[in-house]
Amino acid sequence: MDIHELREKLKHYSYMYYAKDDPEITDYEYDMMMRELIRLEEESNEPIPPDSPSRRVGGEALSSFSKVIHEVPLQSLTDAFSYDELRDFDRRVKEECFDATYDVEVKIDGLSVALTYEGGYFVKGATRGDGEVGEDVTENLRTIGSIPLKLTEDADIIVRGEVYMPRKNFFALNEKREEAGEPLFKNPRNAAAGSLRQLDSKITAGRGLDILIFNVQKCDAKTFDTHTESLSYLESLGFKMVPVRKSCKTIDEAIAEIEKIGSGEYNLGFEIDGAVIKVNELSYREKLGSTAKAPRWAIAYKYPPEQKETKLLDIEIQVGRTGVLTPNAVLTPVFIGGTTVGRATLHNIDFIRQKDMMIGDTVIIQKAGEIIPEVVSVVKEKRTGEERKFNMPETCPVCGAKTVRYENEAAIRCSGNECPAQLQRNIEHFVSRDAMNIDGLGPAIIAQLLERKLISSTADLYYLKKEDVAALDKMGEKSAENLDEAIKKSKESDLSNLIFALGIRQVGQSAGKSLAKHFKTLDAFMAANEEELSAIEDIGPITAKNIVTYMSETQNLSNIQNLVGAGVNTVYKEEELTDERFSGLTFVLTGTLPTYTRDQASAIIERFGGKVSGSVSKKTSYVLFGDEAGSKLTKAKDLGVTLITEEEFNEMIK
Ligand code: NAD
Repeated sequence: MDIHELREKLKHYSYMYYAKDDPEITDYEYDMMMRELIRLEEESNEPIPPDSPSRRVGGEALSSFSKVIHEVPLQSLTDAFSYDELRDFDRRVKEECFDATYDVEVKIDGLSVALTYEGGYFVKGATRGDGEVGEDVTENLRTIGSIPLKLTEDADIIVRGEVYMPRKNFFALNEKREEAGEPLFKNPRNAAAGSLRQLDSKITAGRGLDILIFNVQKCDAKTFDTHTESLSYLESLGFKMVPVRKSCKTIDEAIAEIEKIGSGEYNLGFEIDGAVIKVNELSYREKLGSTAKAPRWAIAYKYPPEQKETKLLDIEIQVGRTGVLTPNAVLTPVFIGGTTVGRATLHNIDFIRQKDMMIGDTVIIQKAGEIIPEVVSVVKEKRTGEERKFNMPETCPVCGAKTVRYENEAAIRCSGNECPAQLQRNIEHFVSRDAMNIDGLGPAIIAQLLERKLISSTADLYYLKKEDVAALDKMGEKSAENLDEAIKKSKESDLSNLIFALGIRQVGQSAGKSLAKHFKTLDAFMAANEEELSAIEDIGPITAKNIVTYMSETQNLSNIQNLVGAGVNTVYKEEELTDERFSGLTFVLTGTLPTYTRDQASAIIERFGGKVSGSVSKKTSYVLFGDEAGSKLTKAKDLGVTLITEEEFNEMIK
């Protein structure tokens, strides 16, 4: 990779990490790429651009928060990946300050904030941002119980600390998110950053954040000789301090402490991404000074990804909310990276095959700063012949429906749409506006209905008792009444909505329409074979296969039967679609329309019997164009096709 490519890549990863709280690579991989960039920049004669990732601290402040200029910049730290580098650091320090001593602290993996106190009161809190300008997150920080709102003294002081999410809160949060079908946080650091940077403090308050303070940024009224002294003062003010900090006279002592931290002996309950060695004497810190990015008096040691050997005892299947079957390794528990690991995800069957993994194998697992451990490889020399090949199950372990692997997908899925593992999501889809359009049935209510076992399929919605609904949390007589009405009204939905609502893979809204239009009744649709289905315009062979697979699953069929039994409409309401003014006309859409999305415009055209095509040809009747229309517009002009704006289009459909 050349230097420019490397910079672009690092910029992207850094954006994903700092702005999106959603890293795409491990910290270790990121650190190694950064090392390479620094090496290339040192070798190159070209000037280093000021926006090079090697020059920057952290990420930019998000515009959704008001900005805070830090009175004292929040610097980063120089990294070291070997003890030799720590000894080099020691030599550099001792050249200028021969009797300097060190303080070793755990490097908490969270996000840095500065807290400002005036007269002992907490008045402002900001994220690090790019070190100079951060985001004002005062209100969110107020929700963290361990931040004193009033100190034990009336001090004017700025302190720096790390907001983090304790491991157990991280697991609990992800569990809740999984239940609610929300994306999971990759690690506690990202969870902490995502939780602190919420626009609604109530959300932050519920996330279980904590803080540990590790520095005095500014305190005019007091002077200290050493860092240790300043931390003791902070403790007396009521701050919760970084728990592991050890004074060391020599670099050997410091390295011994780093080893101890790395061994997991401290049982911290939160993630660390290294240990920091800091010169303790504050006068020496001043003498050593800083680079633009980091102080010369401190260095962060990053632990190498830790690897351990263990046994793969079994492979268990977990069924996710989208129906994906994920194989999980059941391991002989080993202590690695501060936690005992007994399970690890194996992603999918391809991963297992690529690594040639068998049940009973000895495997190497790794934790690279991330909380989720990975199986890296198999120690084939240790095979005894007792190992067993693993195959993905042919039926879902939760509901017994057939499992399927769709083309171009590594995942194997459960085909049972009423599978309990997938139910919440399917019901959410079923009731959505473009499906059966049941107003007032949000995810939280669906979750309650499932939890109380009032429903176990989409059809069950039509058999709910009003009094059961009224008894739900945050429901009342009135809302229950409204919901009952909405459920009843949804029975009138068109067959096209019903087909879409069933949630058959790849059968979207428009396929639902084509199918309803073609078959006219639910019975005819259900009886169709693959050939008949794929002969219909818009329905490809894969979708046709998905429909047939769906209709071959007994739980899907019995659910449909119950829907019909409840009185749900099963016929195509042709009369509504008698206006076929666009019949025989083909439209092409290009550019961004002022008010319609592409889907909306297409739906209107189809509603009037027209067709929407993806490319312009002589046969195109109209090109409906919006802003930033591209080559399609040029081609249409060349071919003399009639061009229309949204306004003209609206005239046509009046
Ligand atoms: P850093 O996190 O390595 O070091 C500085 C930070 O350490 C400070 O901001 C401070 O908040 C924190 N810290 C925690 N405990 C401390 C203590 N006791 N004393 C002093 N500081 C302490 O530096 P950085 O500039 O924030 O960023 C780089 C980090 O972010 C690296 O670990 C890198 O791997 C990671 N990163 C990862 C990706 C990715 O895609 N995975 C992308 C960008 C950055």
